[in-house]
Amino acid sequence: MRIILLGAPGAGKGTVAKLLTEYDESVQISTGDILRKAVKEGNELGKKAGQYMERGDLVPDSLIMQIMEHRLQEEDCGKGFILDGFPRTIPQAEELRDLLSRLGIKLDFVVNLEVPKDVILDRLTTRRTCANPSCQEIYNVKSNPPTPEGKCRKCGSPVIQRDDETEEAIFNRLETYNRKTAPLINFYEHEGLLKSFESLSSNDTVRGIQRHLASKR
Ligand code: AMP
Repeated sequence: MRIILLGAPGAGKGTVAKLLTEYDESVQISTGDILRKAVKEGNELGKKAGQYMERGDLVPDSLIMQIMEHRLQEEDCGKGFILDGFPRTIPQAEELRDLLSRLGIKLDFVVNLEVPKDVILDRLTTRRTCANPSCQEIYNVKSNPPTPEGKCRKCGSPVIQRDDETEEAIFNRLETYNRKTAPLINFYEHEGLLKSFESLSSNDTVRGIQRHLASKR
């Protein structure tokens, strides 16, 4: 499958993307995961991106496009990809459209995850993430806790609260989403690619996405 996942922070894009990769050989591409790994490693990209991320601001489009232009041409994308957290602005969406057309790649559709605001806020404040940059498994202190010792059930690394999940950063991320990312819903509606799902349960959403994919083939 070749899809984009749109949705506010905390809408469940990462969880839905991970579940979808279990059904075929498509890879999950999360720009957030790529950037957090770079920050942890302290490399050039991480140094540039870290300051924006900590505040809950978006990383500049040019930096994101450099990453994605390279990433989408890697061999593992040949079997399909699930874009999680990209594009996040209209310029990114326009550049992605040009890039895919240059590469001769056609998107199946764009998934818009709709989740009520109170659910989003609750999820973001109770979310925890595996600190291992190559794992980044997502947990929730209420519904899906790590081990009693606070370790990742997959890789055993410590599970932490992300720097950008303080109350102030969360507020900024939601405001940034409304201002910069929500306009993508109209953009993809115009392109005839949008399919919205009320997404309270990730499993139900995944089934809905698969049904929609099957109906288009
Ligand atoms: P996420 O894990 O998708 O919530 O992303 C975490 C942070 O990484 C965001 O708050 C942004 O600072 C940055 N980021 C991730 N994806 C993008 C993108 N496509 N454009 C700009 N910044 C991004």
